[in-house]
Amino acid sequence: EKRLSIRDLSKLYNEFVALDHISLDIEQGEKIVVLGPSGSGKSTFIRCLNRIEPHDSGVLMIDGKIIDQKTDLTELRGRVGMVFQNYNLFPHLTVLENCAVAPRLVRSIPRGQAEDTARRILAQVGIAEQASKYPIQLSGGQQQRVAIARALCMDPEIILFDEPTAALDPEAISGVVLIINDLAAQGITTVCVTHEMGFARRIADRIVFMDKGRVQEITPPEEFFTAP
Ligand code: ADP
Ligand code: ADP
Repeated sequence: EKRLSIRDLSKLYNEFVALDHISLDIEQGEKIVVLGPSGSGKSTFIRCLNRIEPHDSGVLMIDGKIIDQKTDLTELRGRVGMVFQNYNLFPHLTVLENCAVAPRLVRSIPRGQAEDTARRILAQVGIAEQASKYPIQLSGGQQQRVAIARALCMDPEIILFDEPTAALDPEAISGVVLIINDLAAQGITTVCVTHEMGFARRIADRIVFMDKGRVQEITPPEEFFTAP
């Protein structure tokens, strides 16, 4: 049974076909990178995977269960975490509170326990010392790690990344590569939209190349990057 099973997924914005019959199976712990020109539907595709955008037709299944209008969205978005390009951290909460707030409010986990878990995960992504700071006091790379830690605090099966390296220097990008490899080793599936070819090559198990709302090609990175 596949972690993610996507069959003929289509999405329209009015008349415009943003996703055109996307089909793809993704395994547990697999690292998928979505490449393609601007406007090809990459963001829309990953946003459909946790129903930030509802699809119009086709079937989306996670661990064999259909995701549709009846799915509990709060529960779904814990299982399918998302790390946004601009991080979307709560500016008025500390790093620790950013990480503990959803487990407390959504899962009713007591504050002490939620904060213990958050501290452990912040250490895992290498920013334990920043726990009591506010997002504005951190570098872009550190904010990115907080965004990843916050998603991890919900114990997700899948994490979606939208341009995770967009604002990062090479050292911070290498940090994200290490973290994503570590997630995969823990069995967490990642689906990552990026423009950075070097980053794509370093993390991808498979490259999904999109154009005009369609999947044009699904290939291992070594083939994608050496094709004539
Ligand atoms: P990419 O991530 O590959 O740049 P997007 O998924 O953001 O592509 O967008 C795919 C296409 O859908 C683009 O033409 C974009 O303008 C259009 N689009 C995206 N979001 C919306 C929206 N909310 N309303 C209308 N059109 C949209
Ligand atoms: P990305 O490049 O990461 O896909 P965009 O800048 O294309 O981001 O889109 C940012 C936001 O604007 C998204 O919420 C998307 O749904 C919305 N959007 C994109 N294109 C359109 C459009 N043509 N009409 C309305 N909303 C759009």
